[in-house]
Amino acid sequence: MMEEVKPYPVQPSGETLGYYDPHNPPADSITEPKSENAKTDPDQMDIVKATQYGMIDRVRKLVDEGYDVNEPDPENVTLLHWAAINNRAEIVRYLVSKEAILDKLGGDLNSTPLHWAVRQGHLPMVVLLMQYGADPSLRDGEGCSGIHLACQFAHTPIVAYLIAKGQDVNMIDGNGMTPLMWSSYKAFSMDPTRLLLTVGANPNIQDKKFENGALHWAAVQGNMAAINCLVKFGADTYMENKSHQTCMDLAKLRRNGYLIMRIKEFRGEAEVDNSTILKRLKSNKTVRKRVMQIVPFLVIFLMGAIPQLSQPWWVKLIAALCTYGVVYTLFRTFFDHRFGELVSLCISFSTKFFLHTTYAYFLWPHQSLLHNVIFFASSVCMYYQFWATMKRDPGVIQCSQEDRKRTIIELAETGQLELSKFCTTCLIKRPIRSKHCSHCDRCVARFDHHCPWVDNCIGSGNHHHFVLYLTALLPCLVLYFYACINYWSEECTTTFQDDGFRAYPSQVLLNKV
Ligand SMILES: [Zn+2]
Ligand SMILES: [Zn+2]
Repeated sequence: MMEEVKPYPVQPSGETLGYYDPHNPPADSITEPKSENAKTDPDQMDIVKATQYGMIDRVRKLVDEGYDVNEPDPENVTLLHWAAINNRAEIVRYLVSKEAILDKLGGDLNSTPLHWAVRQGHLPMVVLLMQYGADPSLRDGEGCSGIHLACQFAHTPIVAYLIAKGQDVNMIDGNGMTPLMWSSYKAFSMDPTRLLLTVGANPNIQDKKFENGALHWAAVQGNMAAINCLVKFGADTYMENKSHQTCMDLAKLRRNGYLIMRIKEFRGEAEVDNSTILKRLKSNKTVRKRVMQIVPFLVIFLMGAIPQLSQPWWVKLIAALCTYGVVYTLFRTFFDHRFGELVSLCISFSTKFFLHTTYAYFLWPHQSLLHNVIFFASSVCMYYQFWATMKRDPGVIQCSQEDRKRTIIELAETGQLELSKFCTTCLIKRPIRSKHCSHCDRCVARFDHHCPWVDNCIGSGNHHHFVLYLTALLPCLVLYFYACINYWSEECTTTFQDDGFRAYPSQVLLNKV
């Protein structure tokens, strides 16, 4: 029977070397399948077509009639190449049983069938050929081995499988390029760059021709996903290539404003300027972090304290403007990209702190003993659960390097190495309901969400603490609100019935109580 899978009748063409010129945009090195008027009658098909279409019976018949399975076609391509590029597992098994040569070089690129399967991203075919003994370290006519091709075409599962099967993650191809350089240059998703770095690829190797590092190759393409990964794993932003260009110079040449800004930010992390005290403080990462943590406390305190002042309204206005000025200056001077991560937790801490300070200072005399006891008990419980949610392991899935490789091979060989089931950062099989937290960069069992208010993932390990934290928070807030109403009705001379709504803002602004 005719399979419905579209055959791949065109061999890969050799334009890969064209990628080496950073001034030329890359062309896809695989020609799109051309429409063809193949004879679809199984009884008339030649053996090449039959292999491409996966017609095992026809292939068997022609081989039985005397066709040599290692006979190359006029394009110097063997049947095994055509079976590999079209992912025809049954035909590959049959051809191998008929002693087809596994690593025969063929086609315009002088590639093996394994190279063709890798280019097309057929992981099951790669697994099958390697199980029969195909050698992934062989080079094609352009000097690329399997892992280089897999990186060029961003076939992450194949990259993972080849590494798990022992391919060197820093292997250099015929032109001195590493797999990481190829993925930084060609793959615009996070993977396989992140995967390569996770398993120990060196981001600071330079290629032979241009002496570019992986960061140069990523900068040439403005590949931000790769650049972020590379810098995180220690790529040197000051490394120079043969023309004495750093990645910053390449970004400037391409007038890529966003990239220039990001590289400046990355470099800012490492720069230390000792010329003045302010600059020294500014370039100190810890000082910047402390300032970012303290400012939300300060702002929330002043938001309450300024309206509370026993001063005329214009003094309060000046105080508010001064506060704004100070906070704005601190923001411009000390705040960096980490503020987004810190702000929620700091607001969470400072609101809790001032809620309880206000309660202890103003509100408790206006509550009944029972309400005070409940408020105290639920506060203690809330703080404990808050701490536990924040500090307890949310269920991070741990795995040794050897276990990871074993898992990859196991998944690939059972046809389960799909990105939905496999985490390419942690290199582990994702258990059901687990997820990779991009904020914390780890896989968490029974992942619920990453909670910025407690700065931790919520998963199997701390989910019950999180629910108890929210449960304890509720009576705290209800009783606090109730205490506020009591306080206002007992301490304030105005009432809504007698004075209307205007009385409330005027109490704050004009201090008329
Ligand atoms: Zn993960
Ligand atoms: Zn997280």
